[in-house]
Amino acid sequence: MEILFRPEGIYVPALDLWLDPRTPVEYAWLSHAHSDHARGLHRTVIATRITAGIYRHRWPLPEGRTQEVLRLDPGETMEFRGARLTALRAAHILGAAQLLIEYQGERTVYTGDIKLAAPICGWATEIVPCDRLIIESTFALPIYDFLPAAEAKERMVRFAAESMAAGLVPVFLGYGLGRGQEIVHTLTEAGLPCAVHGAIAGLIPYYEAEGVEFPGWAPYERRKDETRPLVVTPGLQDSLAAPAARVRVALVSGWAAVDSARARSGADVLIPYSDHAGFGELLEIVERTGARRVEIVHGYAEPFARLLRQRGWDAVAAGPGTAEVQV
Ligand SMILES: [Zn+2]
Repeated sequence: MEILFRPEGIYVPALDLWLDPRTPVEYAWLSHAHSDHARGLHRTVIATRITAGIYRHRWPLPEGRTQEVLRLDPGETMEFRGARLTALRAAHILGAAQLLIEYQGERTVYTGDIKLAAPICGWATEIVPCDRLIIESTFALPIYDFLPAAEAKERMVRFAAESMAAGLVPVFLGYGLGRGQEIVHTLTEAGLPCAVHGAIAGLIPYYEAEGVEFPGWAPYERRKDETRPLVVTPGLQDSLAAPAARVRVALVSGWAAVDSARARSGADVLIPYSDHAGFGELLEIVERTGARRVEIVHGYAEPFARLLRQRGWDAVAAGPGTAEVQV
């Protein structure tokens, strides 16, 4: 099956199907609702129920426009132009899924963004055997080794408690969709009510609809006497911190695995936790699928492809080689 890797997305000509296209198309598979994967008003969208819901929230339909949404939840299969499409759980953000395409005897899996173990909020990855694997490589260098979810939660709670005990306001930096809600869930579940920036708060209802609880969070309001932990998106820590308060900032991110993130983000404390796989997990995913052919997109695609080739895989860097911050 021919697959074209284009700047505007991954294209399967035989099915006229785009995978996570960046510009509007006729038929789009959306692996998850991060804005670099789910964007634009496509004519027909194929996605999980959760992804379709968050995508619609972020890309509302203009007056008079229509869009067909074909729901494909994990474990479900649909016939599509002579192919069988199956959604598989992907550990990343709420609702994320891989796509298995079975066509003319070949099994191809497109992972989208992925890690292996379940994130703080979301499901674990389902691995199925395939001939060909299209996988991301955002953190495909051995320096990227992340904390398991349980340990990351412990570190966050400890950081907040210690900061408050010292009379400081703990500020957490996390992206608007995914990490932000995971931080708020972790703190509130531990009995630490927090104030939450609107970019993160606006998507909390989608998590609550799936049973994730956030007891006692409140929208952030700039107040001089703010002492609760703050959860904001990166870059906003200065403008959002309570003016008179002394703050201590934690970055919860895959980028926090390298020390230079401290200077870049202005954080005092780095908590290396990601909704992407670190190097070891990426290798494990590739190995466990049994794929002969591996096509790598996003991030450190070149070095990861080289390493896989040295270990005997037919691997190529197939997409743009930039490491982007996903929001
Ligand atoms: Zn993502």
